[in-house]
Amino acid sequence: MKGVGPRIAEFFAAKEIQTCEDLLSYFPFKYLDQRSLEKVGSLQPGKSRVTAGRILSCGIAFTGGRRKIFEILLGDDSGVISLKWFRFNPRQMMGGFKKGMGLLVTGEVTEFRRECQFIHPTVQILDGDVIDEIRAPGIVPTYSQIPGLGQKLLRRIVQNTFDLFSGNIIDPLPEEIRHSLPSKEQALREIHFPPDSNGIDDLLASRTPAFRREIFEEFFLMELGLALKRRSVKKEDGVSFDIGDEKIQEWRRKLPFQLTGAQERVLDEILTDLREPHPMNRLLQGDVGSGKTVISLLAALTAIENGHQAALMAPTEILAEQHYLTARTLLAPFKIPIALLTSRLDPRERRSAHARIRKGMFPLVIGTHALISEGVAFKSLALTIIDEQHRFGVLQRAALREKGRSPHVLVMTATPIPRTLAMTIYGDLDLSIIDELPPGRQKIGTEIVPEKNRRQLYGVMREVLGRGGQGYIVYPLVEESEKLSLKDATGMAEELKRIFPEQPIALLHGRTPPEEKEAVMRSFKAGEIKLLVSTTVIEVGIDVPQATMMVIEHAERFGLSQLHQLRGRIGRGDKSSICLLVTPVSRHDPAYRRLEVMVETQDGFRIAEEDLKIRGPGDFLGTRQSGLPELRVANLLRDYKILQEAREEAFRWIEKDPHLAFHPPLRETLFRKWGGRLALAEIG
Ligand code: ADP
Ligand code: MG
Repeated sequence: MKGVGPRIAEFFAAKEIQTCEDLLSYFPFKYLDQRSLEKVGSLQPGKSRVTAGRILSCGIAFTGGRRKIFEILLGDDSGVISLKWFRFNPRQMMGGFKKGMGLLVTGEVTEFRRECQFIHPTVQILDGDVIDEIRAPGIVPTYSQIPGLGQKLLRRIVQNTFDLFSGNIIDPLPEEIRHSLPSKEQALREIHFPPDSNGIDDLLASRTPAFRREIFEEFFLMELGLALKRRSVKKEDGVSFDIGDEKIQEWRRKLPFQLTGAQERVLDEILTDLREPHPMNRLLQGDVGSGKTVISLLAALTAIENGHQAALMAPTEILAEQHYLTARTLLAPFKIPIALLTSRLDPRERRSAHARIRKGMFPLVIGTHALISEGVAFKSLALTIIDEQHRFGVLQRAALREKGRSPHVLVMTATPIPRTLAMTIYGDLDLSIIDELPPGRQKIGTEIVPEKNRRQLYGVMREVLGRGGQGYIVYPLVEESEKLSLKDATGMAEELKRIFPEQPIALLHGRTPPEEKEAVMRSFKAGEIKLLVSTTVIEVGIDVPQATMMVIEHAERFGLSQLHQLRGRIGRGDKSSICLLVTPVSRHDPAYRRLEVMVETQDGFRIAEEDLKIRGPGDFLGTRQSGLPELRVANLLRDYKILQEAREEAFRWIEKDPHLAFHPPLRETLFRKWGGRLALAEIG
């Protein structure tokens, strides 16, 4: 191609740009709005002025009043203007700006002693050559740096590419699917060279028609892959369990409580799946404390009754141990040998456990990640259960599945995610929801306690503990960090022991040795320890019904779902409970308003929704989640509506055109981009 010789090709290759298509898929990462750009010399006082120039000099200066300011003199061929900062971070300013650097400056221009100046403007540093052509007003795309290649040259090569292929860029989307969206060529053009009619905010937020089209295409191809995969999974053979209704009735009678209506319904859904000769793939959502564990154990019983093994994997040792204890109690009438596999077994214990699992002597195996370690093999694993699944990555979930031969899979979570998202992220799965709490649960009184009312906080705690109550106090960090000046759990445990000398207090954190952890949890369960000082290791799953108080320090540092999980540790018995959110932030802080959501509602689904809105998907879903093709422009949460449309269209398309024969470019693109990552055997 014109303008690209071997040397430049090499620069591109370093960024994995090999073809013209790769290049056109290399989108600008930001845009500079220079539509109202003025020359330095013609700036007049006023708001939102925009100019550009090079730094002539910069540094700390003194005003008449000996006040330090940071000043930059910026110039172009028409004049010079001063940019001033009265409040600034010296190290950042001195390190950030250098003589000769190009700046795009936006802000208010004021007059001082007859001269124009910017006070506290917004500045963007311009990469080397941008400044030379900045004279052309408009929206200028900026690409992430390709070493050896300037922005200007890069833009020219992109332009050449368009010239070369004009009218010949094939659209992978069939006409019927595209509806009113721009064509591939138009979309690419408008992303690289946005028309002036685009709003800069829309561009920066990827909301223009061109971006929407690219987002749709990305989702559509992904969902198409999933739709194909689903067609093949349906036919996969699995183990069908033979289990009569009388048997289920009998098991139910042996439980220490009656199942709630929601539990009954969900159990039915699961049993229906388990009786099928195809593997179950089901997500069980249920708010914290809704009683998912017992359901999973009943599912395990059906596998065991049919002569197979079941495995339950939990994200922490504490939780695995707790499930082990629960299983031993609930399943006591059935006399089933249960193995507990965690990383704390010594080599001899581990070898012996592995051997017995392999021989099928343990029909039920409960554990942490230790379950998926290499040495573990089952005689006949037919059901895998993953608790708090958001704590695991796709690979880990897959690794457990691989231990069996197409076993049934049940994943459980207390963090609900929207349906389409769940089906996309976890491949194709069915959803069961427990939307009812066991009877007798008391509402948890939740209050925000300003840091300055700490004395009152201790008053309330003293009162609860004085009545013989038990509770948790949770800190965001384990070790004192001067920078953040957070009270850390270790330090606070000492202080609390001084404040409540008559109360047995224990400390639990991520680095507590396993034996000690277990001992502490056991004494807390037994009521010997009254106050458990802890980091978030207690966040998931811990079940001590008689605990009635949860104090969370620096509550503003936790996500809402995390707070909900923590609060879910209490209110499990029949006594009323109290949750205190301690925070130094003031009423006007957005973080405070977030905490108010906790006061207002106890509905985990509503809280998760708010959390999604506030935090965005990366954080919420965790990057580990996705075994999906990498999304370049689309964002699962921001673009959720488009995702829903794309999924519907994709599944409908596959119904009509299962071999992707109608529109060859679609099939080609799907194979080329994602063929390796999605199982596409079906269209072979
Ligand atoms: P989660 O869904 O958060 O995992 P758990 O399975 O830990 O909840 O159950 C929370 C508590 O509720 C446990 O103590 C459990 O024994 C109890 N529980 C579960 N189902 C019922 C029920 N139907 N009636 C009464 N208590 C129940
Ligand atoms: Mg649980």
